[in-house]
Amino acid sequence: MVTRSTIMDTNSFRADDAAAGVSEETLAMTRRRSGLLGPSYRLFYSNPVHLVRGEGAYVWDSDGEKYLDVYNNVVSVGHCHPVVVEAIGRQAATLNTHTRYLHDGILDYAEDLLGTLPAPIDQVMFMCTGSEANDLAIRVARAATGGNGIIVSAEAYHGTSDLTSAASPALGGGQVLGDYVRLVEAPDAYRAPTHEVVAWFAGRIQAQIDSLVASGQGFAGFLADSIFSSDGVLPGPRGYLAAAVDVVHRNGGVFISDEVQPGFGRTGEKFWGFERHGVVADIVTMGKPMGNGMPISALAAKAEVLAPFAENIPYFNTFGGNPVSIAAAQATLDVLRSENLMEHSRVVGARVLAELDALAARHESIGDVRGAGLFIGLELVQDRTTKTPDKALALAVVDALRAKHVLTSVAGAGGNVLKLRPPLAFAEGDIDWLVGALDAVLTELGA
Ligand code: PMP
Repeated sequence: MVTRSTIMDTNSFRADDAAAGVSEETLAMTRRRSGLLGPSYRLFYSNPVHLVRGEGAYVWDSDGEKYLDVYNNVVSVGHCHPVVVEAIGRQAATLNTHTRYLHDGILDYAEDLLGTLPAPIDQVMFMCTGSEANDLAIRVARAATGGNGIIVSAEAYHGTSDLTSAASPALGGGQVLGDYVRLVEAPDAYRAPTHEVVAWFAGRIQAQIDSLVASGQGFAGFLADSIFSSDGVLPGPRGYLAAAVDVVHRNGGVFISDEVQPGFGRTGEKFWGFERHGVVADIVTMGKPMGNGMPISALAAKAEVLAPFAENIPYFNTFGGNPVSIAAAQATLDVLRSENLMEHSRVVGARVLAELDALAARHESIGDVRGAGLFIGLELVQDRTTKTPDKALALAVVDALRAKHVLTSVAGAGGNVLKLRPPLAFAEGDIDWLVGALDAVLTELGA
């Protein structure tokens, strides 16, 4: 039985338990915000941060204080990267319109983007958000298979639409999951030996497929973030998804790789997260880092997977793939290559991991450190033997890091995994700030 948690509500600001020392100005702004935007939004930290400017891996608040951003994969190549800013400005000054005209930009970019994907994936559709990409992916998977059911991981987050929120257990108990949704615990190699995790995970997928078939829903596909970010960042062992994807295919389903978080070179080893597992996804969804902050997302697929949907249902997305968003995406891809950021992510990420491993030797509370490139999870536990998650400590660490101007947050069903995922502009020289702050905070907290 999979238990439901509320990772979306972890590290979220509540006026009632605002940190001591939160300024009157900040409190007034949070009140204004909830008055205007309503109660559904969540701010980070018990002392929310009011940002006004960014550059590279740094952001500045309204008092001019500088912070190290260790969380933001949206601005993948760095805050306000001049090449992306220039491309957006140039295209905005030339033409921006909806997407029912011929335009070179979308074609050139589509070709370029498809060139980063394995050959069988040969068509791409554009939209504005990761949610839209996953929503369409579910519809495409259903048309391709004739099944209805979707399997996701126990702490998955896939979006805001009706279809995707009903497949997002990370939204917590208030979100009703679809009757077409089945959950599997994510493959957690920290809590179980590698060979067992791989076989166990494939077995769990089979069991949920059987459940969907028995219920009459049928099976459409397995939708997974290929690094299981919200389940606690689970990069390894490399290849662990292959057996599960085999099971999916043997049962006539499709594998949808949600690359909204691990995509675009972040893992340092491969441009796409699923490639680390030696599999080819049937459908790939992507968003966040794609336009360095401009709202652009995409669904890429094998033509034969796309056809049953695309040949029957027209698709029009007013802003999806508009010239300005495409210019941002093209410039982002160009910068990823010209600055060799995938390799940078691999090299700098490995150094961060080594430093964190050294830190773990001094702090008992660090149960596990794992990562691929600049996508790192640091798991805090009450006890290294029982591996009991220490959510209270993780939240205290996140708030204390914020006080030291290092911005990050938590993931995982236990809310105890620090998610370290900076813009790829994060440089070797930033490691000391991050690791030094973490060391100081754990020492202060007696952990
Ligand atoms: N999939 C994953 C794995 C995500 O992390 C997110 C956003 N956190 C989404 C989908 C949804 O993307 P968006 O917020 O752009 O709709």
